[in-house]
Amino acid sequence: MADSPASDLVVSSHKGPYAVECRADPFAELLPLIASGAHFIIDARVADLYDRELRPALNSGRVLRVEATEERKSIEAMPQFVRHLAAKGVRRGQTLVAVGGGVIQDITCFLAATMLRGMDWVFVPTTLLAMADSCIGSKSSINGGGAKNILGTFTPPKRVLLAVQFLRTLDEKDIRSGVGEMLKVHAIDGPASFDRIAADYPRLFADASVMTSYLIASLAIKKPIVESDEFDTGPRLVMNYGHSFGHALESATGYAVPHGLAVTIGMDLANFVSARLGRGDASHYKRMRPTLAANWKGCEDIAVPLIEFLDALAKDKKNTAANLGLILPDRDGIIRKMEVPSDEKFRAVCAEYLAKGRKESLL
Ligand code: NAD
Repeated sequence: MADSPASDLVVSSHKGPYAVECRADPFAELLPLIASGAHFIIDARVADLYDRELRPALNSGRVLRVEATEERKSIEAMPQFVRHLAAKGVRRGQTLVAVGGGVIQDITCFLAATMLRGMDWVFVPTTLLAMADSCIGSKSSINGGGAKNILGTFTPPKRVLLAVQFLRTLDEKDIRSGVGEMLKVHAIDGPASFDRIAADYPRLFADASVMTSYLIASLAIKKPIVESDEFDTGPRLVMNYGHSFGHALESATGYAVPHGLAVTIGMDLANFVSARLGRGDASHYKRMRPTLAANWKGCEDIAVPLIEFLDALAKDKKNTAANLGLILPDRDGIIRKMEVPSDEKFRAVCAEYLAKGRKESLL
């Protein structure tokens, strides 16, 4: 992996600008934070893998190690984290530092938004998904009452320290999970952008510099969208392409499918639904499916119960009282928000897809 991918990217937010700082040695950047009394929330696996490099932070006496699971990223788990920080004497004016992937980000961001009526937080993303997508955009998303990401805030970090060297230890399925979000961002940028990353799909895994350049390109595509609609009420909603279906897949399978792979399947299902309901064109389903299917490999046989899937879909934040709010491709392959009734026809299309859509092309 190329160690210094690019110059910093500055993102504007309602709390001021913050930079994604591309760093060859993120560990050196932690030393002033340790000296300032910052509290660290570190992915337990990352803490073990990078024990030597993270030793100063781990020895600071202000460390919370957290297993990166969806169960930990929930309102039900929050009291333990609050108790820990309170016992460590957390004070307003101190900084929370997240070291990990999207799960650790969401926990830390939520705590920073709510503890002591607001604290600063800094993010060191260690997964591809967090580097290429979730590290910008201000969102925290917490599970609760059995619903995925039902709670949350918009709380931008003060800084993001991006170091692609963390990707060397990431499992292949977690790399593909991050690639799923990168494919999503490029699809939102338009059919030509998706086709470009799709043509380079095998090279993403074979050549670290290709991966790094698409990672940076993904952030560059996302940046103006989140800047124009930080609070997700208009243009940013398209960033949820693949997510309504993806979250429903995650919930219905007890999180057996990693987030970015659920989003990958969710995009294919969105393309299929759009074509079957006459909102879009089958050509976009056919054009994108080979790359999406390559990315979700290994998830073909995970059973997705239809009732649980539809129940989870009904809880999506974008729904109106009457309809599902879905992000689907139109006839030109442009990703848009559309309202779709959750009627018999829609349920039959979902049932058909869940039965065989991951194993074979249906159009
Ligand atoms: P994750 O945080 O779930 O981590 C995945 C796995 O990788 C875990 O086992 C973790 O321990 C391990 N890991 C992390 N870094 C590693 C490294 N460098 N080497 C080896 N193993 C490592 O993964 P993720 O895909 O980054 O995050 C998914 C979560 O992010 C979901 O809960 C999703 O809802 C959330 N998310 C949030 C936003 C947002 O804007 N807030 C956006 C997208 C996704």
